[in-house]
Amino acid sequence: MLSEKLHEALNAQINAELWSAYLYLSMSMDAEAKGLKGVANWFYVQFQEEQDHARILMNYILSRDGKVSLKPIEAVRTEWASPLEMFQDTLAHEKEVTAMINNLASIAAEDKDYASSNMLVWFVDEQVEEEESAREMISACEAVDGNKFGLYMLDKELAARVYTQASPLASTNA
Ligand code: MG
Repeated sequence: MLSEKLHEALNAQINAELWSAYLYLSMSMDAEAKGLKGVANWFYVQFQEEQDHARILMNYILSRDGKVSLKPIEAVRTEWASPLEMFQDTLAHEKEVTAMINNLASIAAEDKDYASSNMLVWFVDEQVEEEESAREMISACEAVDGNKFGLYMLDKELAARVYTQASPLASTNA
């Protein structure tokens, strides 16, 4: 059985992942409205990945005979001044998610809940990647810095990002 504390924190994490999905969908829509189809694509892939994160946690809670409690998803911002601002927000948000994942890992360790600790390893690694990719995108936007042709080329590059299902789901086909 999951401890009550961990169970509650996992349910809160599902909400955070779905909020992340909603945030990135909002960025995607804002970018698309401004004609930045590549940036819109990058964030749409991000939106899909966040839904995977929530699904992995839901599957896990169910596999431990726990109940998934879905809470309301809070409103997200709808407008950004530039792609740079979007990626800066992305990095700030992912740092908060990293802190939440680390907290989950701490609770699992306190509980000596080895199954939960193992499950969370994937999320710990994923957060390293999330922060790294946000930092890379910030650098790319800073390099472009107001150059319209540069932004055009960057947008084209981001159009190539393809969604692939997160590996813990690929193995279970959920
Ligand atoms: Mg996530």
